Amino acid sequence: MAVSRATFDEVMLPNYAPQAVIPVKGQGSYVWDQAGREYIDFSGGIAVNCLGHCHPELVQTIKEQSEKLWHVSNIWTNEPALRLASKLVKSTFADKVFFCNSGAEANEAALKLARRYAVDQFGEEKDQIIAFKQSFHGRTLFTVTAGGQPAYSDGFGPKPGGISHAVYNDLASVEALISDKTCAVIVEPMLGEGGVLPADPDFIKGVRALCDKHNALLIFDEVQTGFGRTGHLYAYQGLGVTPDILSTAKSLGAGFPIGAIITTDEIGQHLKFGTHGTTYGGNPLACAVAETAFDIINTSQVLEGIKQREAAFRQQLELINQKYNVFSEIRGKGLLLGAVVNEAHEGRAREFVAAAMEQGLMCLVAGANVVRFAPSLIVEQQDIVEGFNRFDKAVARVVAGD
Ligand SMILES: *Cc1c(COP(=O)(O)O)cnc(C)c1O
Repeated sequence: MAVSRATFDEVMLPNYAPQAVIPVKGQGSYVWDQAGREYIDFSGGIAVNCLGHCHPELVQTIKEQSEKLWHVSNIWTNEPALRLASKLVKSTFADKVFFCNSGAEANEAALKLARRYAVDQFGEEKDQIIAFKQSFHGRTLFTVTAGGQPAYSDGFGPKPGGISHAVYNDLASVEALISDKTCAVIVEPMLGEGGVLPADPDFIKGVRALCDKHNALLIFDEVQTGFGRTGHLYAYQGLGVTPDILSTAKSLGAGFPIGAIITTDEIGQHLKFGTHGTTYGGNPLACAVAETAFDIINTSQVLEGIKQREAAFRQQLELINQKYNVFSEIRGKGLLLGAVVNEAHEGRAREFVAAAMEQGLMCLVAGANVVRFAPSLIVEQQDIVEGFNRFDKAVARVVAGD
């Protein structure tokens, strides 16, 4: 059966507006569309494909596991889940893991756990959650309300209550909202969707101190920043601030859907038997893939390599900017980088991304003013150079106005 972009409009709900071309194949940092046209992928499936496309070890794992066991439900546990959880615990602050299938589900679990912990420890009154404007935590009604972008949460009826929004990187705005009724503060260590904006270290340390003062849990949403993206296994490890609960998804499965929260024994025990669950969470297929991804990513070779690649990306972006003067700032960390368009190109990030696609380069926006790069964490040096050759041509065309 032949399908095309027109089929999308016929049979899919219109909540997405996908590009004209349909990718059919990927290998490493390359993708090919239906017409056989090749693209270099600096989008990484929105910070998901941390090992590029069809990494041979992941392909091998999925083949092997698919012939053994796919799913048994949480009435039974399974070996890949237990191994992956053990490795996550060993490499982080956490003692305990809960698996689910996406970032939104992970944050949903994090927020529910924080509420339950507060109710158990301090009583029903302690139910207030502080989140941040311009942040993103997923699309369930609870997480999208936490996200603080009314454009995403309006129009779906009554919103879950008890959530207020401070201003990112503005500690005084948190201080003004926090009280002994606050059960949790949820924050991204670097805004991803909200513009690739790193947290100011003093801000994040200040938030930790305020949480401690008011017995509120600090939740780090590391769905986008986690699993090597910033050059650390998790971004908190580079910030010197440890959260109480951390959510992870996206790169965790390297392209296979999986999410998780990790936390301490003390907090985790409040998610008692029967309080929460999900049918697919921690299924052997997803966990086997994530375990292989973990074994590759959590090595000094790969993590150090991310820092070198960041330097290469920054250098290439600076060179392009010297030529065309289109960006006011290159920001971000590791391989989650944002080129902020300057005043002369205000609101036009999308045009750069569209022009890049025409030149055979996939990248992303993060809001109206930021061109975002979230490539494979093992992208080859020659692919970086070739990708930026293409981006150079794309920028030239945007600047020339055609
Ligand atoms: C993508 C993202 C989410 C949502 O993840 P889904 O898997 O789409 O539900 C949550 N938080 C952050 C920071 C994200 O970048």
